[in-house]
Amino acid sequence: MRLLMSAIASLTLVTPVLAQTLEAERTIVSTVVAEHDRHIALLERMVNQNSGTLNADGVRATAEIVRAELEPLGFDVRWIDMSQTGRAGHLVATHDGSGKNVLLIGHLDTVFEPDSPFQTFVRDGSRATGPGVGDDKGGVVVIIAALRAMQAAGTLEGSNITVFLTGDEERPGAPLEVARWDLIEAGRAADYALEFENLATENGAEFGTIARRSSSSWTLTTGGRTGHSSGVFNDTLGYGAIYEMARILDTFRRELPEPNLTYNVGVIAGGTPAGIDAHGFRVEASGKTNIVAETAIARGDLRTLTPEQDARVRARMTGIVTQNLPRTRAELVFADDGYPPMAPTAGNIALLGRLNQVNRDLGLSEMAPFDPARRGAADSGFVAADVDTLGGLGVAGGGAHAEGEWADLDSLVRQAQRAAVLIGRLSLGD
Ligand SMILES: [Zn+2]
Repeated sequence: MRLLMSAIASLTLVTPVLAQTLEAERTIVSTVVAEHDRHIALLERMVNQNSGTLNADGVRATAEIVRAELEPLGFDVRWIDMSQTGRAGHLVATHDGSGKNVLLIGHLDTVFEPDSPFQTFVRDGSRATGPGVGDDKGGVVVIIAALRAMQAAGTLEGSNITVFLTGDEERPGAPLEVARWDLIEAGRAADYALEFENLATENGAEFGTIARRSSSSWTLTTGGRTGHSSGVFNDTLGYGAIYEMARILDTFRRELPEPNLTYNVGVIAGGTPAGIDAHGFRVEASGKTNIVAETAIARGDLRTLTPEQDARVRARMTGIVTQNLPRTRAELVFADDGYPPMAPTAGNIALLGRLNQVNRDLGLSEMAPFDPARRGAADSGFVAADVDTLGGLGVAGGGAHAEGEWADLDSLVRQAQRAAVLIGRLSLGD
């Protein structure tokens, strides 16, 4: 705020348009501060409304709270029913204006279903705990606080904004292409995308999110001829399913490593027979030490930084899988429900530059890009291939997805101020 204030103190030195902008941005800063208690109360109400992803009524009730906030600001709010994907739906709110379209992304759902013991907002000074308090209800409140401040400052009028809050970020509905079709379309229509998941912090420093890794899963099934173990490795029996599985996984381990790539094997079974349940979580196998294994199954994940890396690593994995040991076979299947990466593009880096200009003007510290290897996948990955995207504009906190999840309520102020100024500049500015 220091620089903004000093610029306002010397208004005679700036053009009338710039003076108006500075005055508006000063109103943004003060409005967010003045409404802090209002927005803590709003966050409390939202957190106390359970919206576990599978609790469709709860997700819709949370959307209604948001609707009641956005309609008075002049947004056209609609609900996209997603019952065909087994989920509640998405809230989409549009504010038409002549400016560039800025897409604001967040989500209504949490990982805490109604049977979780963790259901209640508890405040202790500037720290609050509760289900979804940071992920992502804090982020949704940042959006609302920012838009209200923009309205007070007159910068909402004329701004072209789309708010897209998914109802199934934590457990997307299927098929994924239906569940994310509307979000992808909103990304294609947008000039900029801002995602309001948790602010990345470390040792008190705040970071910008210009990239996120993908998240996808794979199933590897190997097969071999079964028979008495005395014949293993011979021309008739070959190596069996378990040696083939071991060959593939060990080759993955030795040959695939590269920066920003991880691939974990989460579950494995092998024997005669071996199987896995329809959900892919529970394996079953039996076998004898003197029988060559017939089947082996493993499931794992794959996390990459760019679409190019994702495609290349998948191809290499597939290539390794095809080099079968004698008398064995193997099949690698990638699930089609993955989250694409948000690559660290020049456009995303430029958006962080715009945010850092806002930080300088508000007297806040500049934000370095956060190590993408440490950020999980998010809905921003679905739009990042089509539009410059900046993430992590929600609140600071920790413990997401676990009981005890918390949020730093002071960060709500900073983040709403930053967002309101940034959205206005992106939509109405140069
Ligand atoms: Zn989230």
